[in-house]
Parts: sequence; structure tokens; C-alpha cells
Amino acid sequence: MHRRTLLHCLLLLCLLVPIAACSREPGDESTLDRVLARGILRVGTEPEFKPFESKNEHGEFVGFDIDLVRELAGDLEVELEIVEMAFPALIPSIRQARIDLAVSGMTATAERAKSVSFTDSYFETGLCLLVGADAGIESADGFGDRQLAVKQGTTGQINARRLFPNARITVMRTEGACVNEVVTGRADAFLYDQLSVLGASRAHPKTTRAILTPLTKEPYAMATPHGDAKFVTRLNEFLTAIRKDGRYQTMRDKYLKDLPDGSR
Ligand code: GLN
Repeated sequence: MHRRTLLHCLLLLCLLVPIAACSREPGDESTLDRVLARGILRVGTEPEFKPFESKNEHGEFVGFDIDLVRELAGDLEVELEIVEMAFPALIPSIRQARIDLAVSGMTATAERAKSVSFTDSYFETGLCLLVGADAGIESADGFGDRQLAVKQGTTGQINARRLFPNARITVMRTEGACVNEVVTGRADAFLYDQLSVLGASRAHPKTTRAILTPLTKEPYAMATPHGDAKFVTRLNEFLTAIRKDGRYQTMRDKYLKDLPDGSR
């Protein structure tokens, strides 16, 4: 009887070992395991999106998103490596495994979610308009065939045609170039995220004005390799933890003091 049990156990072991070995194929490994093994978390960002990410006068990365991933790397007990790139390069870089995740004030959209997986949202805002001080625009209605600037690859560009069906659209590579279109009067408005519009209107009070009424919902989230549930679960645990232990509130107080309506 004893012998039989032993035999059964051995047989089971023989069956299970190959299965276990198979499930550890390198291709199936979670990015989380790779990050922990490497001891470095590689995060992609475009540091041109205040107050979420920018570079200070010493060339250091600063902002809400930067603090967020610093805390994350600390919790994972790994080093943080920030990889700077243009916003439209972030998703392709995740897919090519050049970075482990992107944090860049990125809106979680259904379309993007076909090629990357998003964490829970850590901030919600909306798109709105920066208008020329003399453009005579009071609201998004009646924009007609005026000139609208949008930043390439952003939800501003993605939503422009739907929100402003008759607008003439200029696509620029940077936020600065879009703001400049409005400042110089070449464009009547710039469609972009609320806090950036607010910041631009304060930087150019004579030539621009913010119409902060949100025209869309923009939930910001971290973007990760597609379908890596283990990694996303760990990141969501981190987001829950910082909301509970007060670190999230500290970051909000530091970077996101005065929020327009519709942001939370
Ligand atoms: N939230 C916008 C988007 O996801 C803009 C982000 C950005 O320019 N950093 O497209």
C-alpha cells in the first residue's frame, strides 16, 4: 500500500515537472520578474508635460509622474532608469520591450489598450481649449472652420475631428509649438489637456485664454506590455497602497494644487 502511494507520487511528479518547466518559458515571463531580476525599472516618458513631467534647470526629471515611479521603484526595491523619448514613441517602445512601462500623462483609451495594457487610472482630467485672446471664442460651440492646433499623437489630435468637424487642423510636434500657434494668432485654439492649457494661459496672459470646460474624459494611467496581468496587478497594488498610506495625497499637494473643474 505504501509502495503504491510512493509510486503514484513519483508518477505525478514526472507528469508535473515538465508542465512546470513549460510555464517558465522566457517568452511567458512577466515584465515584473524581469524588472526584479535586473534590479532596474526602465520607465519611458516625454518630459514636456508640466506638472506631470518636465526637466528642471539642472536637467533632472521632476513632476507628479516622476515621483510616482520613484515611489514605485522604491517599493519594488529596484533602481529607476528614466528613458526620455517623444510621446508617440512610448507605445512602440513598450511593444519592443525597450522600456518596462510608460508614465507620461497618458490617457488610457480603448484604442491604445489594443496594443498596451493600462493600470488603474491615477488621475482624471479632460481636454479643453487654449484660445487666442482676440479670437472671439467663448465656448467650444460654433468653432466652425477656424484653425485648431493639436499635438501629434495625443488625444487632442485623436479627438479633434469628432469634436470640431469643420475645423482646419494643424498638427504640431510639441506642446510649445501648439501654444506658439495660438500666441502668434496662426491658430485660433489649441485642444489639449486641462492642466497644460491652464499653465499655457498663465505663461501667456496677454495673448491667450483658457476655456477649461472639459470636452472629454482623460483618465491617466501607466502603460505596460500588453496582457501582462501579473505586472499590472502589482502596479495596481502599488497605486492602492499609496492612496492608503498618504503618499498619493502628498504628491497631489505638491504638484496638483489648483485643479480646474472636471479634474480629480
Ligand atoms: N493625455 C494626452 C494623451 O494621452 C496627452 C499626453 C501628453 O502629451 N503627455 O494623449
